[in-house]
Order: sequence, then structure tokens, then C-alpha cells
Amino acid sequence: MKSTSADRRIRDLRPTKHSVDTWTPIDVLVEEERTAERGVQPSITVFLAGRECPFTCVFCDLWRQTLDGPTPAGAIPAQLDVALRRVGSVPPGAGIKLYNASNFFDPRAVPVADGPAIAERLAPFDRVTVESHPLFVGPAALEFNSLLEDRLEVAMGLETIHPRALPRLNKRMNLADFDRAADLLRRGGVGVRAFVLVGAPFVPAAETVEWAVRSVEYALDHGAEVVTLIPVRAGNGELDRLQREGDFVPPILAQLEEALERSLALERGVVLADLWDVEGLAACRDCGPERVARLERMNLTGRPEEPVGCPQCRV
Ligand code: SF4
Ligand SMILES: [Zn+2]
Repeated sequence: MKSTSADRRIRDLRPTKHSVDTWTPIDVLVEEERTAERGVQPSITVFLAGRECPFTCVFCDLWRQTLDGPTPAGAIPAQLDVALRRVGSVPPGAGIKLYNASNFFDPRAVPVADGPAIAERLAPFDRVTVESHPLFVGPAALEFNSLLEDRLEVAMGLETIHPRALPRLNKRMNLADFDRAADLLRRGGVGVRAFVLVGAPFVPAAETVEWAVRSVEYALDHGAEVVTLIPVRAGNGELDRLQREGDFVPPILAQLEEALERSLALERGVVLADLWDVEGLAACRDCGPERVARLERMNLTGRPEEPVGCPQCRV
């Protein structure tokens, strides 16, 4: 993919990249997660080290934990071996997410020849989730689904449906691209998960929650069974520039709460709030931890709870 002047400008502002080992996963998490059909189940997330994504979205900081060149053959199966050893015995009903900070169906990020070795290691899992930009979703996704005997789910960033913000995210994707990919996956029997941003740049700050909820609805209308709300995190260089220009206002915890409450009130699909690094969101010092605990419970039950009353912040 040819890099544009916008890509180069964004890349020039990036802070230093971390150094990453080709043969060791970046992290492995074991949690519980509500699923579309199977209730709450154990969920293992493996953050894989691989080639950087060729896109350059303005909000992305995933490139920080990527390799400098293409992922060598054998590296992903080797990382999975390390991850599964760390997990120990796989609990019954567990799902696994392989997040490679890029596109699982980009052959330079996950060599195609490794498909069977990867699928073999994923045999104990009921559900396998991988991530991909919609433009990388094609026949390779369906082939990997057959290797997995129809247990695949693909997570794609819808980000926002705000008509002026989406084209400015430098994601090189429009809604038709998302729809095409979701349709291809659904027709092939593959599950669809969508990522929606809370606090997307270029969305007016006062409309942050409204557009997040509209985007969740759009994703559910267009084939997603699971939608994860992701608060945008500053610090990738470009976002700091956009913040200075007034085009980005970091979201606060209360906005993530409201976006989740309103999405759950739709009573459709599985909508989750991404709580990774949630402590980084601005929140009241007194009730912040209680609010995060409430979000954790709402993620598991799928039911909105009474708001946390707090005499300090009066929200
Ligand atoms: S497509 Fe995903 S991984 Fe690639 S730059 Fe955009 S947000 Fe980052
Ligand atoms: Zn408070």
C-alpha cells in the first residue's frame, strides 16, 4: 500500500516504538466475557507481536508494539505455544482472541502458510476472534474459518459513522467497505465483532456519546453480534496535535458509562466497554473506582445499573 503525505505526517509525530520480541507474545489475558449465544464464558486474549499495520489511522497507537519487518514464518504458532503454556489448561467453553495490532489476513502480518499450525493450536477453543481492517477481509477469512471448522469471528473497526469524522480518520474506509466485509463474513458463517470509538477525533465533543451509540446501532444493523466501545487514548503524537487544534477532546469516564448504558438500553446484541487502561480516563477521584467496577459488572450482565451517586462530583 502506497503511503500518502497524510500517512507520513502522522508517522513523523509518533513517539518512540517499544522493542518487541518476535517469538514471545506481548501479553496474555484471561478474563470472563459475555458472548452472543453462550452467556458469560472464559475468554483469553493473546496480544501477538507481528508486522505493523499498513494503515495509519489518526487515533491508532497499536504500532508501538509491532515488529519492524514482516512477521517471519513460524513466529505466530511459536507465540501461541508460549501463550497457551502460560494459560495452562483451557477452561471448557473458552474463547480466544488473537490481537496482532494489525490485520490477521495481511499475509505479511500472519504468513498464510502458518494457517494450519495456528488452527491446530486453537482446537480447544469454542470461538476464535481475530482482527482485521475491512479491506483485508476476503476469501482468506473464509478459508481460515474452514480450518477452524466454523468457529471464527472477525473483529473490525467501524470507529464512527459520523459522516464528516470517518473520512478524516485516515482509515481509508467508508461505510460501504465495512458493510461489504460484514456481509461476506456473515454469508460465510463467520461471526462479526465491531469496534466503536468513544471520543473519535472530529466528532464534536458534545456529541461524543450520541455518535458512539448511533455507531453501535449501525454495527448491529450491519451484521455485528458483538460491539466493543473503545475510549480513544491520547499520546500517539497525531492525537496530541489534533487536541491542540481543537479537533480531539479526550473522552472521560462518564462518557464511556453513558455510551454503554445507552447501548445496553437498545437490548440488542452484546455491547461491551473496553476497560483496558480505563484508569487513564479523567474521572472523579472519589467515585472513579466504583464506576469502573459498575462497568465491569454491566459488561458481564448486559444490564444497565443504577448510576453511582457521589457527593463529590454530583453525577
Ligand atoms: S487499521 Fe487498525 S491497526 Fe491499522 S492503523 Fe488503523 S486502527 Fe491501527
Ligand atoms: Zn464522584
